[in-house]
Formats: sequence, structure tokens, C-alpha cells
Amino acid sequence: MPIDATRPYDDSNIFARILRGEIPARKVYEDAHALAFHDINPQAATHILVIPKGAYVSWDDFSERASEEEIAGFVRAVGHVARAEGLVAPGYRLLANVGPDSGQEVPHLHVHIFGGGPLGPMISPR
Ligand code: 5GP
Repeated sequence: MPIDATRPYDDSNIFARILRGEIPARKVYEDAHALAFHDINPQAATHILVIPKGAYVSWDDFSERASEEEIAGFVRAVGHVARAEGLVAPGYRLLANVGPDSGQEVPHLHVHIFGGGPLGPMISPR
């Protein structure tokens, strides 16, 4: 069910639990600011989620409250993962859902990296 991205951070969410090591994930990258792992229900040949280590509900929350260091670290981590996966030459897509209209389901900021083949239209036709 889509979440309300204006709510305070709830540290029982599934990605907070992955960060704490309470549930497993297929990790592809980790540094001081970010963790990247394969999506459990991939929507493309390559579908990786990158999350900040800090407690942020969404892109909105992160862009408002995160420090310059966290923002730089997270953005660099997303770029690093895409390069490491060999996605730059063939191309890839980034997506961050925020709130109900987007269908955001997990209330911890995550950027989706999609790649591994042609990705089709940017969004579903209305
Ligand atoms: P959202 O709709 O919030 O932008 O995307 C949430 C994503 O998290 C979905 O693509 C979903 O498949 C993925 N996801 C949900 N639960 C888990 C989990 O426990 N592990 C992993 N690796 N991905 C998850």
C-alpha cells in the first residue's frame, strides 16, 4: 500500500531492517553513506535499489534535511553503482517514488536503478 511521505520516519520499515542486518538482502555496494542491493521483485534485467544510511522517508525529506555530505555521498553512490554494473554505455534509468500518487511503498528513501536492456516508455500511458 502506498505510504504518506509527509509522516515522520518509522524505523520499523523493511529497508531500515535491511540496514540493521535484521533481514537479508543481495548487496552490491556499501559505503559510509549508502547501501545498494537487488530489488526482491525486479522490474528490469537489472533492478537495484540504493538507499541512504540516514533515516529519511523520501527524496523530499532527504533533500530538505540531509547534510551536504550525506547528499553528495548518496548521489555519488548511485553513480558508482550504475558504473560498476556497466550500465553507463548501454544506458539506464533512475526512479525515486514519493508518496501516494507515485505508489511509494517503503518509507525509506530509495532510488531504483533500472537497466540491462531497453526500458520502454518513461511512464505508463494515462
Ligand atoms: P517503491 O514502490 O516504494 O518505490 O519501491 C519499493 C521496492 O522495494 C519495490 O520495487 C519492491 O519490490 C522492493 N522491496 C520491497 N520489499 C523488499 C525486500 O524485503 N527486499 C528487497 N530487496 N526489495 C524489497
